[in-house]
Amino acid sequence: MINIAIDGPGGAGKSTIARAVAAELGFIYVDTGALYRAVGLNALRHGIDTRNIDGIVKMLDETDVSLSFIDGEQRVMLNGEDVSTAIRLPEASMAASNVSAIPAVRQFLFDLQRKIAEENNCLMDGRDIGSVVLPNADLKLFMTASPETRAQRRFDELKAKGEDVKYSEILDELNKRDYQDSHREIAPLKQAEDAILFDTSDLSFDEVKNKLIEMVKEKIDG
Ligand code: C5P
Repeated sequence: MINIAIDGPGGAGKSTIARAVAAELGFIYVDTGALYRAVGLNALRHGIDTRNIDGIVKMLDETDVSLSFIDGEQRVMLNGEDVSTAIRLPEASMAASNVSAIPAVRQFLFDLQRKIAEENNCLMDGRDIGSVVLPNADLKLFMTASPETRAQRRFDELKAKGEDVKYSEILDELNKRDYQDSHREIAPLKQAEDAILFDTSDLSFDEVKNKLIEMVKEKIDG
């Protein structure tokens, strides 16, 4: 199977690009952030503090998270319920970042990610895919963009969905989450040694997409 790992901070364009490239190549696109968001959402729903390690670890015993792919589109299931939309709520972002710093949560989601990659040609995006989940990936990218560009993209995305959001709040939240994700002890967000740095700040969607397709095809064709 061909596995492409794409890591980087929030709003760098990973998911939009990876989804489009996967569709074009007939691969599946796996958004691993959705798994952490589902765990975070479960905690919010049960009123469990997302920083309370014992509470979260206990909760995991009664948490079932899985992914299914319908026409190549990923759906996230939490205890049998499709939460693909609910996990996009802004409060789920910080909850995901909080629970993702807990080693037991990362362990809980590890096998699931590994298994999907073993069974499918995939582009998988996250924070630790090239460094921890798929250290032997065929191609590793670290995709980034300036904080302002990333906040603007997120803002445009949420606005288009009709959400009432403020640019400054999104920028603050992104910076806070980046800091937390990059400074945690376990699997921090960082570029794997053998990952290619891909700064998308000044590139259009099509430019990034075509470049990535070219890189993957080069790998496939050897
Ligand atoms: O990618 P997304 O913004 O949806 O991820 C939500 C949060 O989940 C991130 O801020 C990060 O803390 C966590 N995450 C992670 N490892 C991954 C994917 C996401 O720790 N592979």
